[in-house]
Amino acid sequence: MQFSADLTPQRRQQDLQFLQELQIRGSRVDLVVVGGGITGAGVALDAASRGLQVVLLEGVDLAFGTSRWSSKLVHGGLRYLANGQVHVAWESAVERGRLMRRIAPHLVQPMAQVLPIMRGDSARGAAIMRAGLMAGDLLRAFAGTPGRLLPHSRRLTAEQTMGWVPALARRDLKAGLLSWDGRLEDDARLVVAVARTAASFGARIITGAQVTGATGTGVSVLIDGSAIEVPTRSVISAVGVWAESFDPTLSVTPSQGSHLLLAAERLDHPRAALTVPVPDMHGRYCFVLPRPDNLLLAGITDIEVPGAIPSVPTPTPSEEAWILQQVSRVLARPVSEQDVIGRFAGLRPLVTVGDAHGPTSDISRRHLVRRDDSGIVTIAGGKLTTYRRMAQDAVDAISDRKCVTADLPLIGADGDTAATLPDWASRLVRRYGSEASRLVAMAQDDALLREPVAPQVPVLGVEIAFAIACEGARSFDDVVQRRTRLSLVPAQLAAAEPRVREILARTVYQ
Ligand SMILES: Cc1cc2nc3c(=O)[nH]c(=O)nc-3n(C[C@H](O)[C@H](O)[C@H](O)COP(=O)(O)OP(=O)(O)OC[C@H]3O[C@@H](n4cnc5c(N)ncnc54)[C@H](O)[C@@H]3O)c2cc1C
Repeated sequence: MQFSADLTPQRRQQDLQFLQELQIRGSRVDLVVVGGGITGAGVALDAASRGLQVVLLEGVDLAFGTSRWSSKLVHGGLRYLANGQVHVAWESAVERGRLMRRIAPHLVQPMAQVLPIMRGDSARGAAIMRAGLMAGDLLRAFAGTPGRLLPHSRRLTAEQTMGWVPALARRDLKAGLLSWDGRLEDDARLVVAVARTAASFGARIITGAQVTGATGTGVSVLIDGSAIEVPTRSVISAVGVWAESFDPTLSVTPSQGSHLLLAAERLDHPRAALTVPVPDMHGRYCFVLPRPDNLLLAGITDIEVPGAIPSVPTPTPSEEAWILQQVSRVLARPVSEQDVIGRFAGLRPLVTVGDAHGPTSDISRRHLVRRDDSGIVTIAGGKLTTYRRMAQDAVDAISDRKCVTADLPLIGADGDTAATLPDWASRLVRRYGSEASRLVAMAQDDALLREPVAPQVPVLGVEIAFAIACEGARSFDDVVQRRTRLSLVPAQLAAAEPRVREILARTVYQ
């Protein structure tokens, strides 16, 4: 049976009523998923598309946790190959291909990346990197991703390298290496697309639902101030860095990764990502990634986080200084604090059974699926890129039904896109795929919705209205932080806030 993919305010009310009546009727659902990041959304989609009756409970909002703080790459796992984690690299290459070809081609684009070879770099080091990229090419080919999507890597002359990244220090540049990987339009939008696709198979996606206790057969949840018991046949916990709170035998070692946002013009609008090897740290790189809307994303750190897990982590001044320093080493004009227009940090959910020791960058990124004594299955670790495979493994632990997601397009991936849409809608095609025509129709008779929410800000009014009407957003924060990402650049958020609030006031109570 096919359901609407829209997460409307009315649907949330119906889903809450369904939960409240479960106990009265003495019935139970097949599966409760705890956590609405990419992993939980992926599990909900996997299970619902197998025909199971699914409820997803998320404490705050879709993509509230780590899933919105990633580098927004769908990567082939080259780094894992270098560390000898061949299985992780293979899984990444396969899932990247699936996402780019069938599952979410509207949200994942090919991205060129350039590794500059500077005077003073060892010839041996460059040869090892070239060999690594060629191994990545092989992995891509074996994984079935065509070269027209992700072309072969190749060596570049210094002049060609400057053509891709014009801000490099030409005097010190000897040559470059060009390769290709996948770039996500927006990590939080991927989560929303997966969750809505799950909803189209009947999954009940309920945000603002904090789970306060669970066993393998029941979940206690606090929703809008009411405590509700949800009887269920199985529970899958997909709460990322909070995994220990559901299974204390697990050990989570959160590792913080921070990013800085720069204006693309500061680096003369690079056409490729810049990858800079970190001296004396084998296999570690800093990068500057071209992002949509004239932004660049520079990162990334890897530091241990002692003590309590913050709900929203923040970059430290020393992380910020480190990123700027690493990137500046290859630029003609070093970047400084004044160039930073936004910043964010995320916590990698690196999970082991028992106590973990050693530096966080050495812990395997492979995911973990584990059932505790009460029957709760935990899925944790992994990456955005491999969310589908993680979900498959987790649902296999509770169901014999066959997984059908390997070729299943997400909402917006199928059907007609740009051809007949007006010019002002090109951003919508990028972010909503084939659903862009719905947003265009919504904005047709309303100039406020067709316009950007502030001068020099790319977000259109209709994105605010659509977030509330169809994407499960329930507040100003949901809209600016996780549906439109306005908050990534605080100056843009400040400029846009009055218009966003104006549209919200009209939309919420319609
Ligand atoms: C800095 C950084 C960069 C990264 N870059 C990439 C990249 O480029 N590509 C890539 O593939 N991967 C990347 N990753 C990895 C990837 O982002 C994570 O593996 C992934 O997002 C984890 O998702 P998750 O759903 O498991 O956890 P989360 O996204 O943290 O989701 C967990 C959810 O559970 C909810 N929750 C917690 N407790 C409860 C409760 N009691 N009741 C209800 N809900 C609860 C939280 O609110 C949260 O929304 C990166 C990670 C980091 C940190």
